[in-house]
Amino acid sequence: MASSVQHSAHTVDKALHTADLRVLVACLYHLTGDEKWLSDEMRPQRDVRLVADPMAGFSQETADFIKNAARDWLLSDTSEPAITDPGPDTFGKMMSFFLGEEVPPEYVPMIRKDFGYSPEAAPRKITSTTNRRPRIAIIGAGASGLCLAHQFDIAGLDWHLYEKNDDVGGTWHENRYPGCGVDTPNHFYCYSFSPNPDWTHFFSGSSELLNYLERFADDNNLRDRVTCGTRVQSATWDDLNNVWDIELFDESGSRHDTVDILVSAPGHFHQPVTPTFDGQDSFAGQIVHTAKWPTDLDLSGKKVAVIGTGASSMQLVPTIANDLAALTIFQRTPQWARNVPEYHLAVDEHASWLFRYLPMYSQWYRFAQLWRYGDGLLRFLKVDPEWEHPDRSLNRINERHRNEIVSYITEKLEGRPDLLDKCIPSYPPFGKRILIDNGWFDTLCQQHVTLVTDPIDQFCETGVQTNEGEVFEADVIILATGFDVTTLASRIDITGKNGVTLADDWANENPRALLGINVPNFPNLFIMYGPNTNMGHGGSGMWLAETQSNYITQRICDMVENNVATVECISELRDEYTDRIDELHADLIWAHPGTPTYYRTAAGKVRSPMPFRLVDYWTMTNERGLEDFITTPHSTSSTTGS
Ligand code: NAP
Repeated sequence: MASSVQHSAHTVDKALHTADLRVLVACLYHLTGDEKWLSDEMRPQRDVRLVADPMAGFSQETADFIKNAARDWLLSDTSEPAITDPGPDTFGKMMSFFLGEEVPPEYVPMIRKDFGYSPEAAPRKITSTTNRRPRIAIIGAGASGLCLAHQFDIAGLDWHLYEKNDDVGGTWHENRYPGCGVDTPNHFYCYSFSPNPDWTHFFSGSSELLNYLERFADDNNLRDRVTCGTRVQSATWDDLNNVWDIELFDESGSRHDTVDILVSAPGHFHQPVTPTFDGQDSFAGQIVHTAKWPTDLDLSGKKVAVIGTGASSMQLVPTIANDLAALTIFQRTPQWARNVPEYHLAVDEHASWLFRYLPMYSQWYRFAQLWRYGDGLLRFLKVDPEWEHPDRSLNRINERHRNEIVSYITEKLEGRPDLLDKCIPSYPPFGKRILIDNGWFDTLCQQHVTLVTDPIDQFCETGVQTNEGEVFEADVIILATGFDVTTLASRIDITGKNGVTLADDWANENPRALLGINVPNFPNLFIMYGPNTNMGHGGSGMWLAETQSNYITQRICDMVENNVATVECISELRDEYTDRIDELHADLIWAHPGTPTYYRTAAGKVRSPMPFRLVDYWTMTNERGLEDFITTPHSTSSTTGS
């Protein structure tokens, strides 16, 4: 966004003080068009460390030179960059230059779309004025469902969205535990076409994320076609009429409707895992799951036991600890938690100014985050068959990351060898979803906090008893025990052709779908955030929502333009795709035998994360089309009208 506003030198200096140097250099090429900004002298250093060098490898003198050049431009009369879109070739070179390493050419179209360059970014619109447009039901008003609804609107499709909760927002509406927030940087955890220069933090809390989605629904006039407080209880394919019969349930009871196309977007991390413990009923206090947090729960001055040490626990524990009389944490497996210096950093008015007023800053900053929290990592999560320490790491860089985190934890737990022994995982880093240290290790060192690693034997009237017979008293037991990620869309009772249910097709914890989206025998059904679409190596749920929304919209537009009534995924293609996923996962970290992780099922199948780079998934969703489906045309009588 260029600005015609005259900025004061004071404002500009304050803003530039907070600027990311790497991003600034890329912006300067756009602003000035001067090739100097793509010269070796200005090339940022490659950085694969977990904590990035804020100087990007520049000397202080060069850093000052860069900032002064940006200052001069911002204080000049110029308000438009010399080059907004440098074209695909130069843009590709800029990406490599920016990262200080070769970026493969397949990234060019994906990132150009993110930058909003047309035609890459141009949304699909239906051109046919006569062909029949399907009625579409979307289940779930989270980040996926809302993004899709918006893209359907742009395309000119007829949709209605059903949400079981009383408002939109999905996971950010549901997860209300103290400390809940995102651990992907916000400027990447938002839709590329709807950036938010007003994030108050680089990693925001859940209320701000919820607010972003609510505003998105408002600003795009989606709400009048979102029915909240209504659960889609079941969906049954009617082969005779080529429609889905959906059963809707709300406070007034159950009713039926028929739609041509069904999109299931109920979320990946949605179904809480609530293990049952012996003696649970005898516990005199309250038991809560992080994902079902009672709004009136007051923990101050209480004794609290937390079971689980994953991402939810990492956010919850340090947030509540100070208010408690005693806190006992039950850890089954230690987690890798890394230091991210900007995790708690506010985007103050000066930093925010850059996102708002410095042309291209927001886009390049987002690309930096996509690389650092996404594809930049996947290549380091491959097993090196020659590596001599396969138990503790996968390859040389993975070992280096391990050492970086071990040093960090060791420093944090100085003087507490008892804790250090419990907190260093034996498995390779990234084997379970990597966490960001939210003050976890500092919290463990507090007097009233106890980390218990003996297995839980049972609950008793006063608290939790370990298999050593020791009882830890608690007024409240918090289950931070995660989510079931194997049932996914099959949690809804969906019946396809010949009476086959999605739960049958995905039985034995084996959910499989072409692109994670389509399943044979389930015509006109699209699934969002389904099997093998989670981004274990890093990525953003919002990026996935956007990528899948684009794919689904494209296919439905293809249907309309080609007068197609039904699409059904070709069975062999789903199988080939699944085989390929299994093959790729065999060499990746989540198959590592020493790592217990929800990414892998009891039968040893990795079914939550994708084994691809984001760019591979993006390319597949952009290159594949109706040829993946058995299609049936509309009968002649139904080809006109709408
Ligand atoms: P999780 O990562 O699956 O962690 C569950 C924890 O509970 C683990 O420590 C697990 O131990 C333990 N556990 C489970 N069953 C147990 C039992 N019967 N007895 C004792 N311990 C038990 O779940 P989560 O923390 O809710 O996170 C799930 C996912 O949600 C994350 O990976 C992430 O994708 C998403 N999430 C994201 C954020 C964010 O910041 N963006 C925040 C929260 C959640 P084991 O490790 O031994 O299995």
